[in-house]
Amino acid sequence: MNIHEYQAKQLFEKFGVATPKGIVASTAEEAGKAAREIGGPGLVVKAQVHAGGRGKGTFKNGFKGGVHVVDTPEQAEDIAGKMLGQTLVTHQTGPEGKLVSKVLIAKAVDITKEYYFAILFDRGSSSHAIIASTEGGMNIEEVAEKTPEKIFKEFVNPALGLQSYQCRKIAASLGLRGPLANQATKLFTALWNLYLKSDCSLVEINPLAITTDNQVVALDAKFNFDDNALYRQKDVVAMRDTTEEDPREVAASEFGLNYIGLDGNIACLVNGAGLAMSTMDIIKFHGGEPANFLDVGGGATKEQVTAAFKIILGDPNVKGILVNIFGGIMDCNIIATGIIAAAQEVSLGIPLVVRLEGNNVEAGKATLAASGLAITSASDLTDAAQKIVAAVKAA
Ligand code: ADP
Ligand code: MG
Repeated sequence: MNIHEYQAKQLFEKFGVATPKGIVASTAEEAGKAAREIGGPGLVVKAQVHAGGRGKGTFKNGFKGGVHVVDTPEQAEDIAGKMLGQTLVTHQTGPEGKLVSKVLIAKAVDITKEYYFAILFDRGSSSHAIIASTEGGMNIEEVAEKTPEKIFKEFVNPALGLQSYQCRKIAASLGLRGPLANQATKLFTALWNLYLKSDCSLVEINPLAITTDNQVVALDAKFNFDDNALYRQKDVVAMRDTTEEDPREVAASEFGLNYIGLDGNIACLVNGAGLAMSTMDIIKFHGGEPANFLDVGGGATKEQVTAAFKIILGDPNVKGILVNIFGGIMDCNIIATGIIAAAQEVSLGIPLVVRLEGNNVEAGKATLAASGLAITSASDLTDAAQKIVAAVKAA
């Protein structure tokens, strides 16, 4: 799960991470009011979307920049009016862009230097990693590729947590000395506490800035949260903005389905993440492209299967469906009744290949056969993949 920058700022305040004051606004008037409350001169208007690269982005109507530094509250109101209700395209939004329905009005600071700072969960080292760079405000992937020597890494032992010597080490590698190093250490520690207590999998500050009056402040924020920990993060869940998410994934999450939308045209309905991945692999191996990853889980109910099938059928890119079920815990007949229930609600106008194996398979097959639906049954995984790829190509 992700959150907006203005919400990240609320977490910064709660955990004592230094950041310029900011207020969110949904209309130009609200933006003007917020700007007067913060007070000029020196304000920044920032489009709130779940994507980075806003500063260099362009609105679909041609207006340039999702981040504007202005002098007066009147100018802030004017710029907010130009952003709200418009679609911003950045290198992270894809060509369709993202609708801006909120802007953040924040105090602008005079920057002397921008840095990059992130804390993330690093599976490779079974620990947390801190990534810092002197090249802030830039695309970090590009820095990593072209000037890897400008990126510093520090691993944090999960049992020990971030130690102050590590903060000083990072500050020193960024060239920060004296009071600036102390301030940086304080900010890193506060951010670490936020990251750990809020079950983040990533916090990224790009840029972390040094101001002309020698303050170390976080100017931007990107957060990812560990979805498996959301049950104990009620405040974080309350910040969820489903309008920023793939509608297919939002629907799937309501039914507890593990669903990830992809770009291909063959939908997969599978039980078990491993089987789902091998199903995607074998579709590709036979020349097809999967439209999604979908694991209905080991003990899915008829309602979940019906919901899964409806999400698949609601995707206009889907040109064929492959159901691949191995009934270990799952009863094949539940899958069969779910498919039929969904197909009755949403008319099935595309090829459907079903491969059932395992628990109660004969009953499942009989249920499907008796349904009168145009279903192609397959004997094994290879047969199933070949049949659905051929059917989609022929259509
Ligand atoms: P994005 O990464 O989406 O482009 P940022 O929040 O990083 O958005 O803003 C882009 C640039 O705008 C920053 O690199 C910084 O130079 C400037 N900026 C952002 N917030 C402020 C602020 N409060 N005061 C002054 N400059 C800012
Ligand atoms: Mg940024």
